[in-house]
Amino acid sequence: MDCIRIRNLEIFGHHGVYSEEKRLGQKFVVCADLYLDIRPSGLSDDLKLSVNYGDVCKFMDSFMRGNTYYLIEAVAEKMAKALLVEFENVSSIRLEIKKPWAPIGLPLEEVSVVIERGWHDAYIGLGSNMGDKKDIINEALSRMEGDDDIKVLERSSLIDTKPYGKTDQPDFLNGAVHIKTMYTPLELLKCLNEIELLSGRVREEHWGPRTLDLDILLYDDIIMDTPDLTIPHYDMKNRDFVLKPLCEIASWLRHPVEGKTIREMLSSLEMKDGPASS
Ligand code: ADP
Ligand code: MG
Repeated sequence: MDCIRIRNLEIFGHHGVYSEEKRLGQKFVVCADLYLDIRPSGLSDDLKLSVNYGDVCKFMDSFMRGNTYYLIEAVAEKMAKALLVEFENVSSIRLEIKKPWAPIGLPLEEVSVVIERGWHDAYIGLGSNMGDKKDIINEALSRMEGDDDIKVLERSSLIDTKPYGKTDQPDFLNGAVHIKTMYTPLELLKCLNEIELLSGRVREEHWGPRTLDLDILLYDDIIMDTPDLTIPHYDMKNRDFVLKPLCEIASWLRHPVEGKTIREMLSSLEMKDGPASS
């Protein structure tokens, strides 16, 4: 991908494990590769479609002066996130924080950490069958929107569906959303579980524990199986209440295991089961 490179920006900061490092401060040197599509700004000559590297340098300078961390790992992690939140045209970043004067008592030229962080595309399935389902789902979406590591890009409509599997329970309201996230898949699952818990707790006394289900349907083109997390979601191809809303926002998206688009998967399911009863 196209890239704007910032090399060796010197910043005086107060990061380090030793108290003198925090007290006296020292020079750090920063390199940043900002990945974005440069073609729109290249063709139009319009800065708004790119990223102002002067602003990026000033941002990094004030971030590193204004915060104090023990580790350059932490400086890199927190600053990468702050940059990705602040400069929305940047899709990912490679950041190197060098510490040329690391006080280790040996003639070391420099030490540095290098990280790459970015926004990932994920699709989340939403479901509720207790309480005020619409409110519960909207509240969950607000919580996602309030999280710096998540941007909610597109929502499907919410559809009424019959319960699946265990059928002696109230009807569901289902939907899907497209998000960008900086979380890893497991971090995203943890975040969604917390949102489920929050909604469960709020409604628990009145409506019972199972108010909200948030499933990771797809995350980039990742295929993964761990005891806690399977991506793509293991049963999405059999669930019309997942595929229907997903088809509204990403009919063209190709499932990395099935090799079919979401529209094709929904058609196959409807041929197998007959038209969906929602
Ligand atoms: P379901 O979503 O199938 O109705 P639950 O919401 O009770 O069931 O989820 C049970 C467990 O499924 C979760 O604790 C989680 O660890 C696991 N899981 C595996 N893959 C996924 C996924 N892609 N998205 C969400 N949860 C998942
Ligand atoms: Mg679930």
